[in-house]
Amino acid sequence: MIPRNFEHPIQVGMSFGLVSGVITSLGLVVGLTVGTQSRIAVIGGIVTIAIADSLSDALGIHISEEAESVHSSMEVWIATGVTFMTKFAVACSFLAPVLLLELEEAVWVSVAWGIALVAALSWYIAGRQMASRSAVLAEHVGVAVLVVIVSALVGRWVSTTFA
Ligand SMILES: [Zn+2]
Repeated sequence: MIPRNFEHPIQVGMSFGLVSGVITSLGLVVGLTVGTQSRIAVIGGIVTIAIADSLSDALGIHISEEAESVHSSMEVWIATGVTFMTKFAVACSFLAPVLLLELEEAVWVSVAWGIALVAALSWYIAGRQMASRSAVLAEHVGVAVLVVIVSALVGRWVSTTFA
């Protein structure tokens, strides 16, 4: 049984780490694939995100939870650690399609996987809030799809401008 006051930091860390991990990884996989067509660039990018961006997000959550001035030091550190671990795991999960498939196919699998993760989290959160599930789902999946489109356009722009 999780102590009541640890529910908030765990939820903060998991939801932030998951969404941030999906959006950053998805943007990177799509953008770098379209922009460079290089598997090694995509792998290097995902590993960098898994480490550096997870640390960055964990520190961001640490400071933001501290700034709420309502949490104990223990709660703040739990949110920090859970954010790092969740984002690290989510970012690393995007390595699987890139390592196992042709880059062309891996992009589509990554898009499907990322959208499925965001949809599952949105479904769960909307259920807890008694909010309209379809509205929350459409909003969050819409943002994820927008990230994919913008990343593809930027990747294309980079490849045509600097090639
Ligand atoms: Zn808080």
